[in-house]
Amino acid sequence: MPSAFSHAIAALSIGTCFYRPGVPKRFWVAGTLCSLLPDLDVLGFGLGINYGDPLGHRGLTHSLPFAAALAGLVTFTFFRQGFPGLGGKALFAYLFLATASHGFLDAMTDGGLGVAFFAPFSNARYFLFWTPIRVSPIGVSRFFTDRALAVLKSEFLWIWIPAMLLALFGWGVRKREAT
Ligand SMILES: [Zn+2]
Repeated sequence: MPSAFSHAIAALSIGTCFYRPGVPKRFWVAGTLCSLLPDLDVLGFGLGINYGDPLGHRGLTHSLPFAAALAGLVTFTFFRQGFPGLGGKALFAYLFLATASHGFLDAMTDGGLGVAFFAPFSNARYFLFWTPIRVSPIGVSRFFTDRALAVLKSEFLWIWIPAMLLALFGWGVRKREAT
């Protein structure tokens, strides 16, 4: 996985394209949590679930159907009315993209197994055709090692900078709409 920070940054940058003035902070919190939740599957390692299993790391929780289900559940449960200026459908779209971005970033890393984009219908694992992101070690303690710098550098280049550009774009479009 890219580190949790980078998943959150990706989700926040996608959020700038949906955000409308007056939308509460919960909007950002929900998007961030949705982008981090897929990696809860690492808990399965402790339960004896193998990486390559359907419920293993980068399995079901990293799939597109899961992203749709999670976005639907969160929207329906907590934000059925949407927010002022941002309807439930747009919010669903944001949360779907925030969750799905996690799998796509994982599929751009250079290590581990691929992402089961179509689980639970298929456990085939996929990488994108382009994998410039150095894979981040699983677990925080091992994150602060000699590899960390190389990982951070690749995440900065391939996630943080594009995220900043996307945020600028989202902000620019909103400003144009406002004027
Ligand atoms: Zn992941």
